[in-house]
Amino acid sequence: MKIKFCGAAKMVTGSCHLIEYANKKLLVDCGMRQGQDTKTELGEDSFPFDAASVDAVLLTHAHIDHSGLLPLLVKKGFSGDIITTEATSQLCTIMLPDSANIQEYDAQLENKKRQRAGKKLIEPLYTMQDVNNTLKLIKGVKYDETVKLSDEVTVRFKDAGHLLGSASVEIWITEDGATKTLAFSGDIGRAERPIICDPKFIEQADYVIMESTYGDRNHEAGTNDEKEAQLASVLRSAIARGGNIVIPSFAIGRTQELLYYIKRFIANNTVKGLEKIPVYVDSPLGIEATRVYERSADGYYDEEAMELRREGSPFDFETVNFTRTADESKLINVTPGQKIIIASSGMCDAGRIRHHLKHNLYQKNATVIFAGYQAVGTLGRLLVDGAEKVKLFGEEIRVNAVIEHLSVFSGHAGRNELVDWVSAITPKPDRVFLVHGEEEALDMLAEAIRSLGYNVTVPNLLDEVVLTDGRKDGEPEAPSVQAPAADVESVEELTHEYKLVEQMERILKLAEEMSFKKSPDVSLKLDIMENDLAAFADKWEKMFE
Ligand SMILES: [Zn+2]
Ligand SMILES: [Zn+2]
Repeated sequence: MKIKFCGAAKMVTGSCHLIEYANKKLLVDCGMRQGQDTKTELGEDSFPFDAASVDAVLLTHAHIDHSGLLPLLVKKGFSGDIITTEATSQLCTIMLPDSANIQEYDAQLENKKRQRAGKKLIEPLYTMQDVNNTLKLIKGVKYDETVKLSDEVTVRFKDAGHLLGSASVEIWITEDGATKTLAFSGDIGRAERPIICDPKFIEQADYVIMESTYGDRNHEAGTNDEKEAQLASVLRSAIARGGNIVIPSFAIGRTQELLYYIKRFIANNTVKGLEKIPVYVDSPLGIEATRVYERSADGYYDEEAMELRREGSPFDFETVNFTRTADESKLINVTPGQKIIIASSGMCDAGRIRHHLKHNLYQKNATVIFAGYQAVGTLGRLLVDGAEKVKLFGEEIRVNAVIEHLSVFSGHAGRNELVDWVSAITPKPDRVFLVHGEEEALDMLAEAIRSLGYNVTVPNLLDEVVLTDGRKDGEPEAPSVQAPAADVESVEELTHEYKLVEQMERILKLAEEMSFKKSPDVSLKLDIMENDLAAFADKWEKMFE
């Protein structure tokens, strides 16, 4: 058995690891390469293996740096199963189409320039059709369920506490009569994060492949109570200032966390006056993600979120407005009165947030709240670092607004938490491979883990490591560990009863009941409903094409 590091090796994006055993190939993650990481010998769009020869993919979570090249893999001939948790499979149905839209749009823009210059046109990295073909291959499983993929391979997904549906993956591979366990950490989250459960430890593994994002530092203390208190205090000052409160946020994950906190603040009267301030979620992807979060409670929420859910959606409250269209988005800035605007992208390098910054940054009474890591080179980082002026849409904008940075919101484990995670695996694994980190983080984490007596390797991109040649010297041929009995025979048998008609009937009933009521409020709502339903029908016609 051997493993090849095809991405996120001495870098952060493009997670992709190939395991080869008994003439079969298994891929763990197939992430998009971003920023600097597109400048390796693989570029943006090639794989160091034949995509058609891969038998199956295991996906740790929906973040694009782990899932974003799946449609390219399919475009290049992959046709096996993509196994992941049910929540991740749901998130993929919104993230991958969004990614295809961006690819198609970027290619269109580039081709206009090329056409004018008489240059050869380019193709998008992948299209919506490739995404549709990919989504058909995704099979969702439950956390902690042991799933037999073939006679040689059994897998199990464990909650990684990083994002809804995020998982570490245990893989048992039997080759020449011996079974070995590989554990891929995925991205490891932190205890006491809102909505989702704490990361679960893995008990046994021969080989560990783990992330190292924050291998060089520990977070400031960040219990749920501390995070809530920090956000509440920032909101109190922002409300007192009187201007708009703009929160750049990733559409998936952070947006739902913010809504969840605001709903709790209103319910507990933690932040006086918050209940009167309209909250706008200005991100179509954020809105769709919120719906996925609402649907994916069982098995994914922690106790507190389940508690809140008993009284309805944990993300919905009287003053929240979801804006889908660009026109609705523009209206926000001409609507008078103080408001909270949550929009993406989280680091302000694209998206609707840039419009809101343009309209608010120069205002002294406005507040911009950053609730996440800001990478070097992004507009978010410039603002957090105290820039006095920034450029937006070719215009120079003075920064008069108060800029707040809540760093406790990180979704990644800090160094001590990473060390705890690997220490829970007993006995010590034969080898630990560190991936998904900048060089300094990798080195410092390697040192910390080595000092505890572990055999640690920091692989380079495209390194290939032979793990076993079937059996080790002097070791018996019998299996060293037993793969657990599978809960289900095979992934083919995973079935789900679809209650589509039931949902349509609910809408029909609502539409019929409401059409009798004549008031401007109801007719406005019916207008929106008509638009939403038309968009919904368009989307699904396209998905099933
Ligand atoms: Zn992630
Ligand atoms: Zn990641």
